Amino acid sequence: MTAPKAPLPSDPPPSKDFIRDIVEDDLRSGKHAGVVTRFPPEPNGYLHIGHAKSICLNFGIAHEYGGRCHLRFDDTNPVKEEVEYVDSIQEDVRWLGFDWGDHLYYASDYFGQLHDWALQLIRDRKAYVCELSAEEMRLHRGTLTEPGKPSPWRERSVEENLDLFARMRAGEFPEGSKVLRAKIDMAHSNMNLRDPVLYRILHQHHHRTGDQWCIYPTYDFAHGQSDALEHITHSLCTLEFEVHRPLYEWFIANLPVPSRPRQIEFSRLSLTYTVMSKRKLLQLVKENHVEGWDDPRMPTISGYRRRGYTPESIRNFCSQIGITKFKGLTDVGVLEHCIREHLNAIAPRAMAVLDPLKVIIENYPEGQVEEMEIANHPSHPEVGTRNLPFCREIYIEREDFMEDPPKEFFRLGPGREVRLRGAYFLKCHSVIKDDSGKVVELRCTYDPETRGGNNPPDGRKVKATMHWVSALHAVPAEVRLYDRLFNVESPEGGDDDFLSLLNPDSLKILSGCQLEPTLARAVPGDRFQFERLGYFSVDPKLSRPGSPVFNRTVSLKDSWAKVKGQ
Ligand code: ATP
Ligand code: MG
Repeated sequence: MTAPKAPLPSDPPPSKDFIRDIVEDDLRSGKHAGVVTRFPPEPNGYLHIGHAKSICLNFGIAHEYGGRCHLRFDDTNPVKEEVEYVDSIQEDVRWLGFDWGDHLYYASDYFGQLHDWALQLIRDRKAYVCELSAEEMRLHRGTLTEPGKPSPWRERSVEENLDLFARMRAGEFPEGSKVLRAKIDMAHSNMNLRDPVLYRILHQHHHRTGDQWCIYPTYDFAHGQSDALEHITHSLCTLEFEVHRPLYEWFIANLPVPSRPRQIEFSRLSLTYTVMSKRKLLQLVKENHVEGWDDPRMPTISGYRRRGYTPESIRNFCSQIGITKFKGLTDVGVLEHCIREHLNAIAPRAMAVLDPLKVIIENYPEGQVEEMEIANHPSHPEVGTRNLPFCREIYIEREDFMEDPPKEFFRLGPGREVRLRGAYFLKCHSVIKDDSGKVVELRCTYDPETRGGNNPPDGRKVKATMHWVSALHAVPAEVRLYDRLFNVESPEGGDDDFLSLLNPDSLKILSGCQLEPTLARAVPGDRFQFERLGYFSVDPKLSRPGSPVFNRTVSLKDSWAKVKGQ
């Protein structure tokens, strides 16, 4: 048994929930000697933040109670599954901080055993080959208020069923012509027990079993039995499987399985301004509405990773939202808050000017360069300081200047004085414009008695501290700003085509940014707080050595409601 990798010591203690209560009861009563869980993704897309909730729950419980958690690919549908997804899923689970040790499994590993069990159900007169078309089968199923009608093929002999099932397997029949169904109860109040399909014919190549099979088990027939084969004790799934539970239990009761797992349901995560259906995420990728599964605007783990989110903050988010049976919509602001909180603690500070306006400091000696020593983190002196060059020409943020500032604007304007972070007081004297009237340069002076940004001996005070970079030393760079991918709170909820709800301004590419020189050395994985602007990280795909491209990971404050409400 491999112990899961320990969550970082910074992880908050897990909170209790009804599933952990059940697990504790089962361990206390001796029903189980240890806990075994599993995370069972279907490899038909990349993992998203909803999957992270399930991963943190399954691996978290295994870790907390000294058990183990399996990673099992639920690969029963060869039509939509791809090896690319199998690889990305493993990378994402590991990146989140979890380890399945030797316990990597595939539902397709059990195809032989599942087939044997299907034969056993036929011999026990509990399964039959049905030749109704999909449409006829639907009509025979009845409704929630009316019982179903038995299939005309329901009473075939065991011999005939064995023969037909063998021929289905041998590839004699076309897709859709026959299925194997369990013989349970066509009048059952739970529609899932009205003779559910166990096997369908699919003349499809499978990414692992190749062309060995042309009949494939359904999710319902494969899932619980896979759990039982792996001695899973608690099979945790989302609420839509609640109505499947009686069928899960029927198979366990009617087959000679080696263990008896228990299925427990919890509510899935839904986030505001986010779609999480894999079908829709795939459509966004295939139709190029985003730059791929790992586009930083996607709610995928790989998108968040590229955007600069940390695994710790995602785990913390999953712990904060907790596990319940209530359906709900979680504010995406809660996730962003967790990212911000973590980055505030760990991200060194840096100065970057996204929309540069040049300033000439007229009384600063030509050709002189000073090194200004600036703290890397306001509350963590142990991360040290860095030296930034200061000279006669600097850039400030264009929006930090107004030619005719209103009273409540405390930043730079003609005749006004501000503090340049860690450098000097700066006073503006005149404005230079181009032919169109656009301000292109400011003429200022500095006060040599304010070195380090300290107040002058005369006690003069200023109301604003601004970021800056030396124009002669700055590193030009591209910075990408992201906004929510959708304009409405529930893009999945309404009748509208979700594509019509895409936010056209979700990506802004700023190409003329000027960064402090230390940022030329930033490499993928590095994250910074750009003073006054937000948290930014180095894009692992677009950056080149010495020439980083930055993504805004998250803004400093949640400004969405305010901005959009104006
Ligand atoms: P589909 O079945 O449509 O492909 P899915 O979201 O169920 O989509 P799976 O790969 O089957 O995808 O999911 C793997 C596991 O993650 C399942 O146990 C599932 O219940 C869980 N899961 C999926 N989406 C969420 C979510 N939004 N919140 C919590 N758990 C989720
Ligand atoms: Mg699923």
